[in-house]
Amino acid sequence: MLQTNQKLPALTDTSPACPQCGQAIYIRLVEPHPTLSNKEKRTFECEECGLPSTYLMTLN
Ligand SMILES: [Zn+2]
Repeated sequence: MLQTNQKLPALTDTSPACPQCGQAIYIRLVEPHPTLSNKEKRTFECEECGLPSTYLMTLN
């Protein structure tokens, strides 16, 4: 029997994986979007390979 004891983050949360190695990446920097006030840029960095990734988030 499979049991889900793991505490997983909500899937609606942005928890992207590294495009290079597939490991979880962690947020490093949050910047406001230069023109859109309801958006922000979030820079993530892979703990495994150090690859930075920037995502645009819509704020509610
Ligand atoms: Zn990586």
